[in-house]
Amino acid sequence: MSFTLAIVGRPNVGKSTLFNRLVGKRLALVDDTPGVTRDLREGDARLGDLRFVVIDSAGLELAEDDSLQGRMRRLTERAVEEADICLFLVDARVGVTPADEIFADILRKKNAHVILAANKAEGAAGDAGALEAWGLGLGEPIRISAEHGEGLDDLYDVLRPLADDFAERNVAHMPEVDVTLSEEEAEEDESAVPMPTEARPLQLAVIGRPNAGKSTLINKIIGEDRLLTGPEAGITRDAISVSTKFMGTPMRIWDTAGMRKKAKVSGKLEKLSVADGLRAVRFAEVVVVLLDVNIPFEVQDLRIADFAETEGRAVVVAANKWDLEEDKPEKLKELRENFERLLPQLRGAPLVTVSAKTGKGLDRLHNAILKAYEVWNRRVSTAKLNQWLIAMTEAHPPPAPGGRRIKLRYITQAKTRPPGFVIKATHTDQIPESYGRYLVNGLRADFDMPGTPIRIYFRDQG
Ligand code: GDP
Ligand code: GDP
Repeated sequence: MSFTLAIVGRPNVGKSTLFNRLVGKRLALVDDTPGVTRDLREGDARLGDLRFVVIDSAGLELAEDDSLQGRMRRLTERAVEEADICLFLVDARVGVTPADEIFADILRKKNAHVILAANKAEGAAGDAGALEAWGLGLGEPIRISAEHGEGLDDLYDVLRPLADDFAERNVAHMPEVDVTLSEEEAEEDESAVPMPTEARPLQLAVIGRPNAGKSTLINKIIGEDRLLTGPEAGITRDAISVSTKFMGTPMRIWDTAGMRKKAKVSGKLEKLSVADGLRAVRFAEVVVVLLDVNIPFEVQDLRIADFAETEGRAVVVAANKWDLEEDKPEKLKELRENFERLLPQLRGAPLVTVSAKTGKGLDRLHNAILKAYEVWNRRVSTAKLNQWLIAMTEAHPPPAPGGRRIKLRYITQAKTRPPGFVIKATHTDQIPESYGRYLVNGLRADFDMPGTPIRIYFRDQG
């Protein structure tokens, strides 16, 4: 697990409701009566592709014969000590109460890492309370509704960068299961991904809106060592490729406006349209989506990135013209945030900054391309997958529509480039999309397959 999150706040703000939602099981008891006896609950939470331990501090409320303030102080202090991050809930419908103020005070003094959230914020009734929560001096409150599941994407956005920090400190990984590999499978697992060679160069496309800097980038990569190949007969009249070595790695770069200019295939010098660039995606293994850092993530960029994902290509996002950026750390943070929000389907795909003009960052780009290629080609052993599937279904069982529980019996990786998995199951037509996403995100996280499109195919076991 990557980090521990404690949900703190006065009684009745919705801590247990949120806990239940994050854990996805009815583990904690929810009751309208403040101060109902509860045990300290700890659960494995999931939010998008994040996994963490969540503590419901509601159970800590009942230290007997103690003043309210004393109890709250103790429970909060304990939560702060046990957790990496405190999620401090207030009730948006009630507004900020004196008890909330005491909590805020304790959290500030403890120097805890606090995320403030105004719960019960569904509808307009929570507006005033959410605004009031600003006054606690703990930053901007996230508006959520634990009961209706609203605002969890905002919570994700706040947790994600923190999770990355903690992940560096802890090794977050698979649920611990005893995996014994057969010899055959050990071999399968070790079979290395074929690295690009001169005979089989990595097929790359650089796509992006006009003026993003595609031609500049490709010319920089090609440098002097270029070998242009003209339109290849029998493929498409617009497809042009150039074979080159990018930092020592043999690559073939497909069809861009810049190469057209260089190759002078058509007499015309005007740039190719985005549609032409998209066509190059079909020939590519790895697609670099090049953004202009001054105008990143506009609709056109999103469409292009989405297209690459839909086509099953490994994707690297590169923000170009980085040399023009003044406040680089701030801008990078903003880019990452927008990336996660706008391109959830590419969650975890590498985002690198480059300057095609100066050549700075091209080493990062090269490494990201190679890594994406490796992940795209990755094969996971059947034994590991099935141990994983057991842990996943135990942590969060599939639903039981009409009382008949869906059973996921067996998983195997059916293909690579991109990775595709087949799961044999019962009632496959009833498996909700959300459960499929849960599995995809789990595969991504547990087998370190960021960014690559992952497909799961359910098959009735017959
Ligand atoms: P706790 O004491 O902080 O753990 O609070 P509970 O989770 O037990 O919730 C207290 C009450 O608030 C229950 O009646 C919940 O149904 C209700 N509640 C929790 N979250 C929400 C929400 O997002 N909106 C609304 N309207 N009610 C909520
Ligand atoms: P394309 O339409 O995507 O092929 O874009 P071009 O390569 O033709 O570049 C468009 C404009 O952006 C040109 O004026 C380039 O000089 C400029 N440009 C490209 N890359 C960079 C960069 O890294 N930094 C800066 N400052 N300008 C760049």
